[in-house]
Amino acid sequence: MNIQHHITDLKLVHPFKIARRAVDEFRQVISVEIDGGLGETAPARFYGETVETVQVAFDILDTGLDGNLDAIESVMSELESVLGHNYAAKSAIDMALHDRLGKKLGVPLYQLWGLDPKETPLTTFTIGIDEPEIMQQKVHEAEAYPLLKVKLGTDRDLELIRALREVTDKPIYVDANTAWTPKEAVGKIRELAPYGVELIEQPTKPDDLEGLKFVREHSELPIFADESVKRAADIPSLVGCVDGINIKLVKCGGLLEAMRIIHIARAHGLQVMIGCMIESSLGITAAAHLTPLVDYADLDGHLLVANDPYRGVTLEEGKLILPDLPGIGVVPIEK
Ligand code: MG
Repeated sequence: MNIQHHITDLKLVHPFKIARRAVDEFRQVISVEIDGGLGETAPARFYGETVETVQVAFDILDTGLDGNLDAIESVMSELESVLGHNYAAKSAIDMALHDRLGKKLGVPLYQLWGLDPKETPLTTFTIGIDEPEIMQQKVHEAEAYPLLKVKLGTDRDLELIRALREVTDKPIYVDANTAWTPKEAVGKIRELAPYGVELIEQPTKPDDLEGLKFVREHSELPIFADESVKRAADIPSLVGCVDGINIKLVKCGGLLEAMRIIHIARAHGLQVMIGCMIESSLGITAAAHLTPLVDYADLDGHLLVANDPYRGVTLEEGKLILPDLPGIGVVPIEK
C-alpha cells in the first residue's frame, strides 16, 4: 500500500478554548492519498495520538500492507494487528479507502451505503469558552446556524449561559468536556436547564461511568457521552449511564467502525450524535455521509477554519447538504 501523506496547518478564525485546553492559532491535520482516494485525520493528544505518531504509523504501513483495497473490511481488520491503538491513523486510511472505492464505482459514499441524502440532520455550531462579551459576539457571527453547542466547564458557567441568553433564543447543547464532578454536574444542570439547554455532553471524567449514571439519574436533561466512548466495544458498558453517545472518526478508527457503533448504540436504545475535531472539509464531509443514520450532528470543525483547502459538504439553514460527486466528493479549493 503506497500512502502519500502531508501535514496541513489549519488556521483558526478565532482562538478556540474548551474546558481542558486552548488552540490559539493553528491546528495541524494530516492527510493521505491512497491510489487516488483521499483521507484526513486530526489526532488528539487527549487520546494519545499526535501528528508525529500518525506519521510513524503511515511509515510502518508503507513498507508492509498490500491486498485487495476494495475489500475495506479485510484491510481494516488486518490493520488491527499492525496498528493496534493508532485509531487516528486508521481513520485516515479507512477514509481514503472509502473515497477510492466510491470514485472507482462512480458513486457518492451515501449511495454506496444505501442512505438517503435528504435524511441529513441540522448541525450544531460550536461556541468555545471565552469572555462573555466575546461569546456573545461569536453567537452573533453564528447567525446562520439554528443550533448552538456551547463549551462550558468553567467556574462561571451560569454567568456565561445567561450572557448568551441575552443575545439568542436558539436551542443550546452544553459540552462540559469532562470538567465537572458528578455532584457538581447535577447542581450545574439544575441551574442551566431553565435557560433552554437541551442536552449535556460529557459532564464528568471519561472513566467514571458510575458518575455519568449518577448525573443521569439526578438530572432532567439528556446526558451524552463523548470522551467516555471511543469504539463499538465501549457501548454496552454505557447502557443505563447515558442517553446518547457522540461518535468521532478520529476516536474510533474510521467510517466502518463508526457504522458499527451506530448500529450497536441503536440496538441498546441509545441516541447517536456524530461529532468532529477541528478538521478541513475533507474529514468533515466524510463524516457527514453517515449523518442520515444519526439523531444529531456536530460537524462544524471546518467552519472554524480560515484556510480550508477543500470544498465539500455545505449547509442550508444549518442542514447538512451532501455533495453528489463520487466518493467523499470534496474538491480542492484553488489557492
Ligand atoms: Mg464533546
